[in-house]
Amino acid sequence: MKDLVEVRKTVDKGLGIFAIRDIKKDEVVTEFTGPVVTIPDLDCYPAEVVNHLFNIGVDKYIMAREPAVRTNHSCEPNAGIVGDVLLVAMKDIKAGEEVTFDYSTIIADAWVLECACGSDLCRRSIGKYVDLPEEVKQRYLGYTPDWII
Ligand SMILES: [Zn+2]
Repeated sequence: MKDLVEVRKTVDKGLGIFAIRDIKKDEVVTEFTGPVVTIPDLDCYPAEVVNHLFNIGVDKYIMAREPAVRTNHSCEPNAGIVGDVLLVAMKDIKAGEEVTFDYSTIIADAWVLECACGSDLCRRSIGKYVDLPEEVKQRYLGYTPDWII
């Protein structure tokens, strides 16, 4: 498939992915592809790799390639995960806009990241999917991977 985003520098969050053309709601933006690993494998890899893993199942991680691996988190995202590995637009996205999804929709483990995404809806922390407020889960309905629901 053709990626609808490319990797660019963000103002304050390092790299991110940006729409290369207008994207319609429900279009596939990009796909997470790469080697799939499980937790026992992780010791063999450098931190730079481990820090950029994405969950695609319970105890299943993907070492995604660019551009998908550069997708940033937002508490008010414009995209979400469909199936296990497709990043899909939750709304119309303009060319040049950064594309984000909510990392909590793929977090099953007990770890928490601080969040400073800048959204009015920012939860200040990125934690497990099960701990998301019910109204947030509702907002992501249809854009949350099957394995975590
Ligand atoms: Zn946030």
